[in-house]
Amino acid sequence: MIQVRFHGRGGQGIKTASQILGSAAFNSGFQAQDFPLYGAERRGAPIVAFTRISPTPILERGPISNPNLLLIGDETLLNDSQVAPLCGADESTIVFVNSTKSTEQIQKQFPFPAAPLILDLTDRCQNFLGKGHILSTALATAGARILGNIDLKDLLEAVKMELGQSLKPETLQKNLELTQDIFHSLSPCTIPEKPIKALASSPLIELKQTPVHEAAPIILAPGNMALRKTGNWRMQRPKIDYDHCNKCLICYARCPEGTIKIDEDGRPQIDYEHCKGCMICAQECPGHFIQTIRESEGAHE
Ligand code: SF4
Ligand code: SF4
Repeated sequence: MIQVRFHGRGGQGIKTASQILGSAAFNSGFQAQDFPLYGAERRGAPIVAFTRISPTPILERGPISNPNLLLIGDETLLNDSQVAPLCGADESTIVFVNSTKSTEQIQKQFPFPAAPLILDLTDRCQNFLGKGHILSTALATAGARILGNIDLKDLLEAVKMELGQSLKPETLQKNLELTQDIFHSLSPCTIPEKPIKALASSPLIELKQTPVHEAAPIILAPGNMALRKTGNWRMQRPKIDYDHCNKCLICYARCPEGTIKIDEDGRPQIDYEHCKGCMICAQECPGHFIQTIRESEGAHE
């Protein structure tokens, strides 16, 4: 059995990527299982998704802690200690990272157990789809190609199955072209089988019956959201073009995190310690005066 773990951010299509890979494997004659894991749904928050692929029925359930293949949706995730995407990877795990850096550069920065595979998916998604942050098709294709046991035609069929209902025909066509481009840009790897570790037997737990009010949600602490600096969630950075901004403050009103403040001149100012990079402000600015910059390139600005 091959176990694949995806890491990304809410809004990138990571769950869909795991579904496309699962469907493609199924089309190629395998048994497949895919599912996501995330907390409160929040754009920009870390998300993990899983795909299991096997020629025989898959009886295992639950998250994948020791993957054969790890697909990391953006290099900025490697900086986030709460995501810890390399957790559980060993020297036999194939790690793929969406990055502009070279393998040597990224290996100097992070403790990869073995040399990772690198391809700049964001750039390709921007070129084909006009949306660099939507990685569902790209990441699924990277996974399918690296695994080497999924046919391109089965993968294309899976993209149609998973996206055909929700996308316009022309957008679906662009996703199919993106699939072919990425498929031919990567090479299959030899994926070593890992022994499936038996689950440790756990002692029976005695559950006590407690009063209802102890199980009801209750807020005991005052608002503390500002303490969580969500700036390290950002894969894309909004940058306001103050030469054209007319201070309409629509971005201020629409930012879901309240991270746009108004300065003494009435101009919007982004708090980059808390801006999570959802880019809703850029979508909402009527004059398109908010640029989208890739975080790995704009962090020094
Ligand atoms: S400033 Fe823009 S990108 Fe940042 S959190 Fe607010 S809406 Fe999202
Ligand atoms: S929405 Fe655009 S024009 Fe309006 S204040 Fe924000 S950046 Fe300026």
